[in-house]
Amino acid sequence: MQRILEPGQIEAFAQRTIARVRLPERERVFATRAARLRQQSENGAVGHAIGDYLRLMAHVADAQQASLVGIASTPPSAEQIARAQEFRMPLLAASGWRREAHWLQMLMSLCDSLAAAPDLSEAARGVCDRLRTLEPEQLETQADALLSGQTATIDVAAAPFIMAALQVYWVDLASRLRIDDLHELDVPGVCPACGTLPVASAVRADPRSQGFRYLHCALCATEWHMVRVKCSHCYTTQGITYQSIENGPAGIRAECCDTCRTYRKILYQEEDVGIEPVADDLASLGLDLLLSEAGYHRASVNPLLW
Ligand code: FE
Ligand code: FE
Repeated sequence: MQRILEPGQIEAFAQRTIARVRLPERERVFATRAARLRQQSENGAVGHAIGDYLRLMAHVADAQQASLVGIASTPPSAEQIARAQEFRMPLLAASGWRREAHWLQMLMSLCDSLAAAPDLSEAARGVCDRLRTLEPEQLETQADALLSGQTATIDVAAAPFIMAALQVYWVDLASRLRIDDLHELDVPGVCPACGTLPVASAVRADPRSQGFRYLHCALCATEWHMVRVKCSHCYTTQGITYQSIENGPAGIRAECCDTCRTYRKILYQEEDVGIEPVADDLASLGLDLLLSEAGYHRASVNPLLW
């Protein structure tokens, strides 16, 4: 006899089988990004200026991967886990989290690695030199502004480097969580680990998550499931359209919402196995121009470009 599932059972079944959250893999998260940034920098279609920037950010991602080795930030306590669950808050909430001072050492080692890169531009070298002269309090103030989105006080030239160090710190924490420590939030559009907005989303193609769409955290690289054809900003499922550049790269479109007039890019791993949300978002600025001309706003910034 055929077994018929009730709607509640179907949802329970789906929740068991879909990986709700994909935690970052610390062995390769930034290495994968670096490789993709480098690959995209050689793509003639992105243009010279963006190509140079992608190469600089590839150096940054290499340095991030190297600096993840040997760090062990203090993980959340059992009490913090219980409190986050009780109040349905992100466990490692980025704004308000008491960062340990070693994130500043990561920033300095990032600057050292960049300074050693032979093809570093004078402008980037200047920013690294300037970062080294700032007092810890000034850097902490910049970090607070970045993590809480106070755009008026952000030092835009230094922001990608400061953000890169913060990413290392949060990836270190997030990669050592257990999935069961995270719970569903009342707000489905922010990272369940750190509460940051996603940079883009990706429809995954690996056997574990095939065909499912995940939002990718701009800070800690955790991915969380959201059904497809749904605005990741206002959550409507009506009036969603997909736009891409004619004859542009495969595997990337902008998911546009006619209700809130925002968009986020969506990447399709089936069409291009090498996609990486932060890198591909940065490498597709042409799509942003197109969407801006059409009157749509970006739902959130790229963490490596302010
Ligand atoms: Fe996160
Ligand atoms: Fe919307």
